[in-house]
Amino acid sequence: MFDSLSERLGSTLRDLRGKGRLSDADIDATAREIRIALLEADVALPVVRGFIARIKERAKGTEVSQALNPAQQVVKIVNEELVAILGGETRRLHFAKEPPTVIMLAGLQGSGKTTLAGKLARWLSGQGHTPLLVACDLQRPNAVNQLQIVGERAGVPTFAPHPGATGSGELPDGPGDPVGVAREGVAYARAKQHDVVVVDTAGRLGVDEELMRQASDIRTAVEPDEVLFVVDAMIGQDAVATAEAFRDGVGFTGVVLTKLDGDARGGAALSVREVTGEPILFASNGEKLEDFDVFHPDRMSSRILG
Ligand code: GDP
Repeated sequence: MFDSLSERLGSTLRDLRGKGRLSDADIDATAREIRIALLEADVALPVVRGFIARIKERAKGTEVSQALNPAQQVVKIVNEELVAILGGETRRLHFAKEPPTVIMLAGLQGSGKTTLAGKLARWLSGQGHTPLLVACDLQRPNAVNQLQIVGERAGVPTFAPHPGATGSGELPDGPGDPVGVAREGVAYARAKQHDVVVVDTAGRLGVDEELMRQASDIRTAVEPDEVLFVVDAMIGQDAVATAEAFRDGVGFTGVVLTKLDGDARGGAALSVREVTGEPILFASNGEKLEDFDVFHPDRMSSRILG
């Protein structure tokens, strides 16, 4: 992902290198190239506008550095603004003062929620936590089963809704409605000293009211410490509209970008932070449980700028 964006930005910035001084015309031309590169990568228009305006203002402004030549200064400014768009500082997961910490996952069907639940569970275990997965996706027939499989791979138990659905018989069966399952899952975690609960919720192919209401009811019932909006970076401009719909319908405290290993343009995913105001916490870049990491805005910017 971001290969063509990276290439275009790289070559635009390289073109500046030979120049001893940059005129306003040079800066305008560079800004124009950057604008085209971002738009072609699917970065949302308002985000591009703000970004370009800030770059021009700073590059033409009074920033004078003894240590850097003009081209290096522009690269530095572009890097800093890209880091800012991606959220600035790395935002760590917030843990509850009193365990269990409840993390709720929300997003469209196919966004990678279930896979993410496994990745998160594995990562949390690696950090010394004792997570429990809670299966609240009762819409898709196979979703509970899929979460259990992912949980088994991650070595983490799953609290499931239907009688017999847990398979192992080690966990009690929860009620049949998603809100009830979420509530009992959290109570079970508290009783059994699981210090983190990851609640998987139902997704639809498109945003719909019932899905929003259900997710919102689960949020009200279990008061999660984090609600993570999971978004497939491959869905292009729809990522922004979907993020806005989830922000308004459910609300979330952070974003997880998935499928960053894909070859789509991905710029829309880069817009989600700026458009919703919520930070990106994690990134997923493959189907395997270990294809997952904390999202670092500065590292992502360096990767994009090459
Ligand atoms: P859910 O419907 O939101 O629970 O989505 P799933 O977790 O079932 O994922 C949907 C599909 O995307 C599955 O085939 C996953 O293997 C795949 N998937 C999930 N995350 C990633 C990722 O980061 N990269 C790639 N390439 N595929 C992913």
